[in-house]
Amino acid sequence: MADRSDTESRKLLRRLRDSLAEPGQGQERLDRITHLIADSMGTEVCSIYLFRDEETLELCATEGLKREAVHKTRMKLGEGLVGRVARTASPVNTGNAPGEKGFRFMPETGEEIYSSFLGVPIQRVGERLGVLVVQSKIAREFSEDEVYALEVVAMVLAEMTELGAFTGDGDGMTALHRRPVIYRGATGQEGAAEGRVWLHEPRVVVTNPVADDPVAEIERLRAAVQQLRVSIDDLLSVEHLDKDQKAVLEAYRMFANSRGWSKRMEEDIEAGLSAEAAVEKEQSLTRSRMEQVADAYLRERLSDLDDISNRLLRILTGQGKDTGAAMPENPILVARNIGPGELLEYGRKLRGVVLEEGSVGSHAAVVARALAIPLVIHAERIKSEALNGDPILVDGDQGVVHLRPEETITRAFRDKIAMQAEAQKRYASLRGLPAQSKCGTIIQLHMNAGLMADLPSLEGSGAEGVGLFRTELQFLIRSQMPRRAELVAIYSRVMDAAKGRRVAFRTLDIGSDKVLPYMKPQDEPNPAMGWRAIRVGLDKPGILRMQLQALLRAAGKRPLTVMFPFVAQLDEFTQARSHLLREIHRERSLGHPVPEKIEIGAMLETPSLAYAPKEFFDLVDFISIGGNDLKQFFFAADRENELVRRRYDTLNTAFLQFLCHVVHRCADSDTPLSFCGEDAGRPIEALALAAMGFRMLSMRPASIGPVKALIRRVDLREVRAVIDKAITDGAVSARPALMEWLATQPE
Ligand code: PEP
Ligand code: MG
Repeated sequence: MADRSDTESRKLLRRLRDSLAEPGQGQERLDRITHLIADSMGTEVCSIYLFRDEETLELCATEGLKREAVHKTRMKLGEGLVGRVARTASPVNTGNAPGEKGFRFMPETGEEIYSSFLGVPIQRVGERLGVLVVQSKIAREFSEDEVYALEVVAMVLAEMTELGAFTGDGDGMTALHRRPVIYRGATGQEGAAEGRVWLHEPRVVVTNPVADDPVAEIERLRAAVQQLRVSIDDLLSVEHLDKDQKAVLEAYRMFANSRGWSKRMEEDIEAGLSAEAAVEKEQSLTRSRMEQVADAYLRERLSDLDDISNRLLRILTGQGKDTGAAMPENPILVARNIGPGELLEYGRKLRGVVLEEGSVGSHAAVVARALAIPLVIHAERIKSEALNGDPILVDGDQGVVHLRPEETITRAFRDKIAMQAEAQKRYASLRGLPAQSKCGTIIQLHMNAGLMADLPSLEGSGAEGVGLFRTELQFLIRSQMPRRAELVAIYSRVMDAAKGRRVAFRTLDIGSDKVLPYMKPQDEPNPAMGWRAIRVGLDKPGILRMQLQALLRAAGKRPLTVMFPFVAQLDEFTQARSHLLREIHRERSLGHPVPEKIEIGAMLETPSLAYAPKEFFDLVDFISIGGNDLKQFFFAADRENELVRRRYDTLNTAFLQFLCHVVHRCADSDTPLSFCGEDAGRPIEALALAAMGFRMLSMRPASIGPVKALIRRVDLREVRAVIDKAITDGAVSARPALMEWLATQPE
């Protein structure tokens, strides 16, 4: 192979850079570039195809093909040779293009006379931007050096595209990172917010893809790699690394020390790229390989390599997480995914959160809910499109995100926010009033919480207490198991903040999706039905007992309410209860004060508990229905699976009759009953629950106003009659009848 340090390639890159630096409109620049590349490569044709949308490529500039075809010729991803390059993200090199499988000739371009074809992807770290093609009449394959040279050029073009070098020419091609984009994801948390994008991990922007002095660039690269090695060694020397963390870091070290990796990047620099562009070129290659390998282990390793390239880029550019850039006003966090701890660090500064991944029941979603900020999940690929500071609208109700929205959309959206604010004002005026229906029934409205940050809402929302305190959040946001003293401090601050109002502390509900970072994850086929919640507590009582001790210490003499999650049968409750009784006894014998009043409850989250022996209903001090879990098990529909989670209505008459059965069983033994799943915070659902006999509902703080307003408008006996009629009429859901009836009720 010819020496890649030969100056031809560098000369071309320099000419390219100079040409791009000259003033001119985007189209003019593209035209100049195609001319320049064809000239340097000695080919008759050079064309640039860019993505018009995710599926369509458009011929945007050409030297050699017919000019009329520019901005007319389009092809789908995978269509023809150009489409194949784009789909596979790898070059196509042939001396006989018409004879290639999948060849599709575009008559308007006049390309039929060109036999040889070389196309390479224009891509930037996994983001496909287009295809660069050279063609010539002589039937010959391009040499390895030529392929390489064109790849290097494509790399520079990708950087230039990213920097907006080809936009603003009014030719109808709206630039990447400029056009409005709508993302249809899923609701993680309701609410609407307008703000500016704040990327959790901002992309590194390379502003100098071409470098003049390869010796100096190679030195920069070597120094950066050295710094990277030292930082990995530092990480490895930290104590308390578990086996998995160590294995990942060892893999990082292996890559950082890899001669092949460094050598390839140095060759790219010799060819004219800057150190940053060389790292990115390698990274792009890794990303496209990652998309193609099916083997999970290999993908993991490639993703390690991707991560380490990111670190190297950050070192070289000084950009990245700690860029010092100022957070915009009204920041909306955009991320691929985010852990609960990191989200908490941003805290109430954020107006909204948009994630590419995530799930409704994820910890991040739970935190977003606790912080009462709208969250949209599954906004696919938003990270590669959004830039820091971009205007963005988050519609958590619909699960829709508008990035760089059109003016009309923004106006409509602001109207919606204003209407919601108006409604909130109305609800605030109800704060001191009870949720009393027209028939005189009073429904107690409590709030769900899990963080200290939630507690201020207790005053503002008008909640009478905390019906569900999810204690696992305190465990999830830490990197190691909290100590008892820490828990005592947290719980007593919660009780202080509640100022004597009842707080129902739910013991640790881990397992299922809630995996503690410092506990070995179980490899379970179906974790939602697996080793979770009280099952873990009873099998490994150490943590449960520590938590119960902390609750008792925090309470001192104050009344204490404890409930056990996911109790499926009587003996689980009796065992959990005796753990608590034993701890009370122990506290007493140590001379510590114990609560004057203790309520010990259970969460009913599996249908089985509704048919438990009477002894259970007599023994338990209260029951709280965890509707999120109960519904998923009643209908056998995973609460986190987008394909099924909305399939069954909470107002399904079978489900309502089941709830009615629970109401009767509790009434028979005078057991207080509440409902604390998300449905309790949805006004129509809350109305139905109240009509079925629930006298206490616990919900997110923002729902208390709307639920109270609706309850105060109606006579619950009439609501019950509507539901009963829907049942006798054989309706699948009581919702249509209920909505119809509600429409006849005065505001
Ligand atoms: C429920 O299952 O309804 C519940 C309140 O608990 P979680 O959502 O935390 O599982
Ligand atoms: Mg639950």
